[in-house]
Amino acid sequence: MLLIPCPHCGLRDEGEFTYGGPARTLPALDQDTQVWRDAFFAGQKPPGPMTELWYHTSGCESWIEVTRDTATHDILNSNTPQSKVDTP
Ligand SMILES: [Zn+2]
Repeated sequence: MLLIPCPHCGLRDEGEFTYGGPARTLPALDQDTQVWRDAFFAGQKPPGPMTELWYHTSGCESWIEVTRDTATHDILNSNTPQSKVDTP
């Protein structure tokens, strides 16, 4: 069982959250279709630290970013999502 530190509510059980997938940095809006395709459909990352989005469904009803080691499931960090856009 995973315990997730919500920045708003504190340490909570994984069952209170909905998994939102890996957090991604989106390309700039003027990038071509292939760049956008690669951003969404690139191959799976090897096991290790990965930033993911989680929605605290049974708590504060907020999206949070959680950095989790996918090999050990250790939670390394959690915070509120940042708006990220690559610049050309
Ligand atoms: Zn919360």
